[in-house]
Amino acid sequence: MLAVASDDVPAAISALRAQADSELDEAGRRSSSTVIDLEAEENTCPGCFGTIQQGVARCPECGLRVG
Ligand SMILES: [Zn+2]
Repeated sequence: MLAVASDDVPAAISALRAQADSELDEAGRRSSSTVIDLEAEENTCPGCFGTIQQGVARCPECGLRVG
């Protein structure tokens, strides 16, 4: 747990994100920044970066559960 003053929250989040990113390789950074929008017609799979069509429960490329 980390407690910071309210004014310091943005800086604390940035520092924690930078720390987490420094521990990931390029693919890990890309995966961690990939967002699935279930309302969008297409999404990018955070596992294999393939295309996922709306309404499917699993990525057709790698099988990652997304719905
Ligand atoms: Zn995939």
